[in-house]
Amino acid sequence: MAELIDKFGRKINYLRISVTDRCNFRCIYCMPKEGIEWKPMSEILSYEEIALFVKVAAGLGIRKIKLTGGEPLVRKGVENLIEMLKSIDGIEEISLTTNGSLLKKYAKSLKEAGLDRITVSLDTLKAERFKFITRMGDLRDVLDGFEAIEDAGFKDTKINTVVMKGVNDDEILDLVEFALKVKCDIRFIEFMPTDIVKDWRRYFISISEIKRIIKDKYELEHSDKKTNGPSDYFKIDGGFVGFITPLSSAFCSVCNRIRLTSDGFILPCLGHPDRVGVREALKEENEIKISKLIKYAVEIKPKEHALLKEGIHSSMAAVGG
Ligand code: SAM
Ligand code: SF4
Repeated sequence: MAELIDKFGRKINYLRISVTDRCNFRCIYCMPKEGIEWKPMSEILSYEEIALFVKVAAGLGIRKIKLTGGEPLVRKGVENLIEMLKSIDGIEEISLTTNGSLLKKYAKSLKEAGLDRITVSLDTLKAERFKFITRMGDLRDVLDGFEAIEDAGFKDTKINTVVMKGVNDDEILDLVEFALKVKCDIRFIEFMPTDIVKDWRRYFISISEIKRIIKDKYELEHSDKKTNGPSDYFKIDGGFVGFITPLSSAFCSVCNRIRLTSDGFILPCLGHPDRVGVREALKEENEIKISKLIKYAVEIKPKEHALLKEGIHSSMAAVGG
């Protein structure tokens, strides 16, 4: 079986695909309140183009796919894309990251289409605060979404929580308790600088501080659990809690991913401005060209991100955070 190895010896087997830059939320850490300028639909890859990209990428060594956005569930017919990707030789797992607001509507059809796993982003259990963080979301929809994914038969659901000083750092223990109750792993993520949030340092709280708060109540036992991402897992009271420290360089040494943006650019690194355009090659259905472009993107994948130096030059929604 083919493998994609970059020049630092990292095996690249994981592809995050942003299926849309659009979203029904405007989270304070991701978008300005007026939203971002959506890309015109004429520039957005069709599902057939995405599937062609994945077919070529799978031939090179990509094994796992994450569908993200923007909010992936606001794009119509994501189930059709999942079915298409599921049938591609070499693809072992398809998962999806969502803000959870539309799960009540789509959980069943996502399961039927063959989606393997779901990650739900949830930063607070307080309705008013949820409105403040997402600017337009309703917490009830997301809580209903957890029930819907359980009813649909999804297992191994994960929760992603961005912790922000003075916003939700007083809810860390409540969120752990909630995750244990709904039998999901919870991963705490450090706030990542973007060009959207100039004063990100105001919100930044380190993972070591978050761990300290959790250890006041729970015993944390280090675990060798590995998922597709850079999370460091600990056993906690019958469940798992993970920690993601994007600003540390250890994060980069285990990086196994590339990204495809909704408008057809391959991003070798989330925290670097380099991007490789693949839309023309996809329109031409030129598999040799697509293959060369993927190999080139892996070849120029930097050793480390430059998040602290450059921001990511865009919102997470546009690059598929
Ligand atoms: N809309 C979906 C969602 O919210 O899960 C998928 C896209 S969202 C860009 C993917 C993940 O990026 C979410 O878990 C979100 O919390 C995270 N994210 C966005 N901006 C971030 C930032 N500045 N720092 C850390 N995580 C961020
Ligand atoms: Fe939308 Fe997800 Fe960004 Fe929030 S984090 S604005 S839900 S894309």
